[in-house]
Formats: sequence, structure tokens, C-alpha cells
Amino acid sequence: MKLLILLAALISSHHVSATLELDSADLSSLKTLNLEGYLSFHDTHLASRDFGDCYHSLPSAILRPKSPQDIAKTLQHVFDLGPSKLTIAARGHAHSLRGQAQAPHGIVVNMESLADPKKRRVHEGGKSPYVEVSGGELWIDVLRQTLKCGLAPRSWTDYLHLTVGGTLSNAGISGQAFRYGPQISNVYQLEVVTGKGEVVNCSAQKNADLFHAVLGGLGQFGIITKARIALEPAPEMVKWIRVLYSDFSLFTKDQELLISLEKGFDYVEGFVIINRNGILNNWRSSFFTPENPIQASRFNSNGRTLYCLEIAKNFDFNNANATDQEVESLLAQLSFIPSTLFSSELPYLDFLDRVHASEVKLRAQGLWEVPHPWLNLLIPQSTIHDFAEEIFGKLLTDSSNGPILIYPLNKEKWDNRTSAVTPNEDIFYLVAFLSSSTVDSLEHSLSQNRRILEFCEKQGIGMKQYLPHYTTKSEWAAHFSHRWQEFVRRKAAYDPLAILAPGQRIFPKAN
Ligand code: FAD
Repeated sequence: MKLLILLAALISSHHVSATLELDSADLSSLKTLNLEGYLSFHDTHLASRDFGDCYHSLPSAILRPKSPQDIAKTLQHVFDLGPSKLTIAARGHAHSLRGQAQAPHGIVVNMESLADPKKRRVHEGGKSPYVEVSGGELWIDVLRQTLKCGLAPRSWTDYLHLTVGGTLSNAGISGQAFRYGPQISNVYQLEVVTGKGEVVNCSAQKNADLFHAVLGGLGQFGIITKARIALEPAPEMVKWIRVLYSDFSLFTKDQELLISLEKGFDYVEGFVIINRNGILNNWRSSFFTPENPIQASRFNSNGRTLYCLEIAKNFDFNNANATDQEVESLLAQLSFIPSTLFSSELPYLDFLDRVHASEVKLRAQGLWEVPHPWLNLLIPQSTIHDFAEEIFGKLLTDSSNGPILIYPLNKEKWDNRTSAVTPNEDIFYLVAFLSSSTVDSLEHSLSQNRRILEFCEKQGIGMKQYLPHYTTKSEWAAHFSHRWQEFVRRKAAYDPLAILAPGQRIFPKAN
């Protein structure tokens, strides 16, 4: 019997998917699976939203696996059904922005059910220590575990309440990436369940094509059930510094100098402040509030556009003095506005988890669970000035809706065998418009995003979207450019029925 599932079944949706017909026999057959965990069919609304809060699609079932085998059995079952409309999406912490971890009328796999402190294994010995964790672990928990051994992963995201599988499916970028590359450049081995339900161990040496496909693969080729992540000795403390510039050229010149140094700062980021300084602008920076130089009355910004360089130096208590001298000599090479230097010291864990402190504050004010029409772009070095002149100088009149991050990355630290695509220049910038919105102002923010994208297109900026969102195959082909054929080949090899990650809207499932 065919069950007609209408649009109306979707809960309050800004964007809705088309009417689908699902075979109820396909769904019932899932109940016959012998799993350690379980499938639930009554609470599917729990997997219908994400951080972006712009797309909402109701799945038909949620799988709460207790082992990778649960995921393999479910995938194998759906694969064996052959042509059917059932799809499967891994859901990490659902901090996607445009429904990427949703599966309209399909099965959402709640990856956090796999997280298990007893199964986190830290290998301290040898030259290359690593931690092996489930793909559903949050990075904050990985960090807490490894710190017990005085170790930590090398490459981060700004926010740690994201899953290992979720960020490895994109890239995982933060202020350490200029030195170590993104998180996908810091993985030794993966266990993956492919779209055919096979459990495969892969690395750069073994099943290398699958390994590289899955890293940055937008969930298209398999579900990451385990990952071995590179570790380094963890510092005890961090010296965290912010300085301001009013000249974009000086700002980028200094950022580019800092990412070229082998022994410079350990973290290099930056952000743009346009015409004001509201709470959302400062949501990452609550730590600085009492002495924030941007708020300091002695510094008059006069509505100018300012650029804040954010840098950090790691240290241990026993080398604090030497670190101070090193920092001083590094700062002496920079051209910031002298009165705007602010610095503080904090434990490494607190530095890495800094955005969570802002989350707690925003949640208390009801400002966290709101639509987030974020736009993340990778802009080549050769066009960043044209981009800044138009977007920061003309198109945006203020930055009151949320932070605008901007910092450069070294392409040589990215492995071009992975699925992640970046601009074709040695240096490119991450520019992230991290707006918060109300339901009423959402359309305005989305239209601003469209204008930014149109400008890039018209001016030939050579931009690549990070956490990309496209809806047509030709847009996806343009995004992957000369890598598209390889992406298509890998899809045919590892998920030939296009069961996985339908929320990315790359390969509609054949039926
Ligand atoms: P989800 O949103 O649950 O999933 C993302 C995609 O990956 C989906 O397609 C899903 O199907 C797939 N997926 C999830 N788990 C797996 C798995 N185990 N195997 C295969 N596929 C899987 N990104 C950065 O790079 N740097 C940052 O500094 C940064 N900061 C952020 C701060 C905040 C507050 C937020 C909300 C996001 C930030 N992001 C950042 C973006 C973030 O990395 C991505 O949104 C990431 O996908 C979120 O991880 P998640 O666990 O929530 O994944």
C-alpha cells in the first residue's frame, strides 16, 4: 500500500521539499531488523530541525545505533530494497545550516548514540600519538579525554559542540588551520559504513580512495563510525590577543605575514566590525567584555569599518616569560592601531571552548535558537581586496546581525585528494557571515547573501562556498569544477543508489 505523505506533514517550514510517496511496506520492513540499538517512529520531529533553522523536514524514522553494525544492517537493508524512496542521513549535532543532516521521509541516524567514553582510546606512545573515537563524539569530549594524557588534537573549529563525523564531512577550519591544515588533514584512519552497508577501514594507505572521498565528502560516500585523530602535546595556557586596524591592506598584510611564520602565533583569525558594536557582534568575545578595546570610550570608531586581528600564543607556566618576549617581538612587526591592543591569558581548554560561553549567554536571552542564515565563503588572495571594498565598504551598512570572520589559509596544508574544494591559489581567505535573524528578518538576510553571491559571480571573484548549499546539479558541478567527475565516480562506487545524505541535495535518489 502506498502511503501519500503530503507537504502538510512538514512542520512549520520556510523551505519545503516536494510531495513524496513512500512505500509503507518499506518502512514496516525496517521493524524486522535485529539491532542492538533501536529505530523509533513516533518522535521524528526531534530530527527535523538544525542550527540554521531555515529548513525543516520530517523523517519517517530515527535510528539510535549502539554499534556501527546497527548502521551497517540498516543501510544494507535499504540497499537491498533496491529502488525505493528511502534515504538515510547521519545526524551529528545537527549544526548544519540548510537541512544537510535531514532526510525528508527517510531515516535519520542519531550519531551521538554511538558516543561512548569507554570506547575513546588515546594512543600516547610513538612519534604520532592519536585518539580513536566514534564519529558521533563531540569535539569537546574528545578534547577533555585527550587532555587527561596531556595531549590534544592539533586542528580545531571555533566551536567544539560539533561531532567528529560532522566536521570531517566538511573540513573543520579554525585559527590553527594555517599551520596544520583543516581537521580533514589531521586524520590517520577512518571506519566507514558505505551506502551499500559495507563496513570498511580506510586510510591514506588502505582503501585510500574511500578515505579521501569521505573527508570533506558532505556525507555522500559513507557514514564515519570511527576516526583516528592526530594529537600533539597540549599547552597549559594561551595568551589571547586582539588588535584593531582601520586599513584593510595593513590588516591582510599582517595576517598573511603571520600565517607564513613557522614559529609565530599558534592561532590567527580576524573579524570585521562595520558601524557598530552590538551584543551579537561580541558573542564570541564575552571574555573580553570588561576591557574590550572596541567598547572602550577612549577609542572612537566613528562608525568606521574596522578590522580586528585575533591571535593566540600557546605556552606552559614554565616558559611564560620567554613567551612574553616572543609575543612582544612578533607584535613589533605588526601595523595595528597601538591603543587598541588587548591581551588576556586563559587555560587552553577555556580558549578552545570560548564560543560555548557565549552560547550559554545567548541561550539565556533566547537568542541561540533562532534562524541562522550563515554564509561561508573561501575567497582567493588575488580578489579579497575587490571583495572587501564592495561587501564591507558598500553592500553591508553594519555588522549588527552577527560576527563577520575573515582570515587567510595556506592551500598547501589541504590535501587535494580529499573531496573538499578550495580556490586555486596558494592563499585564500575564509569569510564567514554569521548572522542571527528573526523569522521576520530572515528574508532580508537571505537576500543580502544572494547579493554577495551575485557580486562574486559577476566580478569573477573565484570564490568557493564552504559548507556549500546548492540546489541544482549544474551548480554542484560548477562548485566541484574539474573535481566533479571524480565526485560522481566516487558516488557511483560507494553509494550507487544515492541513499546517503539527501539533505545536501546533490544526487536525488533514483526510484
Ligand atoms: P551535522 O550538521 O549533524 O551534519 C553535517 C553533514 O555531515 C550532514 O550532511 C550529515 O549527514 C553529515 N554527517 C554528520 N555526521 C556524519 C558522519 N558521522 N559520517 C558521515 N556524514 C556525517 N565549521 C568550521 O569548519 N569551523 C568553525 O569554526 C565552525 N564553527 C561553527 C560554529 C557554530 C556555532 C556552528 C553552528 C557551526 C560551526 N561550523 C564550523 C560548521 C560545522 O563544522 C558544520 O555545520 C558541521 O557539519 C557541524 O557538525 P555536526 O556534528 O553538527 O554535523
